[in-house]
Amino acid sequence: MDVVIAKSAGFCYGVSRALDAVLSAACDKRKQMYTLGPLIHNPQVMSKLAEHGVKSVGRVDEVPAGSIIVMPSHGVSESVMTQAAEMGLEIIDVTCPFVSKVHRIVGSLTKAGYQILILGDQGHTEVQGILSKAGNNAIVLSDASDLAPETLRKRVGIVAQTTQTVHRFSELVSAVSNHAYEVRAYNTICNATSDRQRAALDVAQHADVMVVVGGRNSANTRRLAEICAEANVPTHHVEVADEIEADWFEGARTVGVTAGASTPDWVIEAVISTLKAM
Ligand code: SF4
Repeated sequence: MDVVIAKSAGFCYGVSRALDAVLSAACDKRKQMYTLGPLIHNPQVMSKLAEHGVKSVGRVDEVPAGSIIVMPSHGVSESVMTQAAEMGLEIIDVTCPFVSKVHRIVGSLTKAGYQILILGDQGHTEVQGILSKAGNNAIVLSDASDLAPETLRKRVGIVAQTTQTVHRFSELVSAVSNHAYEVRAYNTICNATSDRQRAALDVAQHADVMVVVGGRNSANTRRLAEICAEANVPTHHVEVADEIEADWFEGARTVGVTAGASTPDWVIEAVISTLKAM
């Protein structure tokens, strides 16, 4: 049985950078470290962090004085940052540079007097962070159909949450252009998600069975599994190699493997070794 691995699979740049920063800081045991929310949507990584004494909290005010707080890779709002600073906590900010770039763009557009439109999920922390850099007239839209033309100012700046699709973004830009006098649109979508989706489909199209590796709580891993299943390939989503069952591969000549952006290499490698040993 041939095992083919997707060209783009596993940790994206931002997640890898965040984990490296936290693990290296965790070696210094001077202070207790807390991540604001799970650092990565992967139970194996969270267990590894727990072994290093790193804990996770839901809110800044749950962190005891004198501790370290880690701000997540998708960023936080300015008020969360201020609260942590006012509590005297040591802050490790692992906001992905692609997300920080959206903050900078929104900050400068707001300063220049543009109304900000954000394509994204209103309840997501990343969007709350972006929104905190925008002025009072900012609007969050989940797609072009949410647009209410009467709410638009003359000068509008548009950005997207990094995980949005280009298709949705261009639909929104086109809809806004029909109503606003001046539109400045910045495609702030990160390619990590679309690269993994395209690579998963490439492999699935030539595989008899697909194995998708990653946390069940990871939205991007679940989406990869959906894409493979939609290509009519029997697809199995596993978190670890132990879950693999031999009878999934009866009569299969080629098995494809892919993994979400939050899946660490050591978990992917264990899955590949198990498959190759079959
Ligand atoms: S998906 Fe993109 S924006 Fe998000 S953490 Fe990874 S590299 Fe950064």
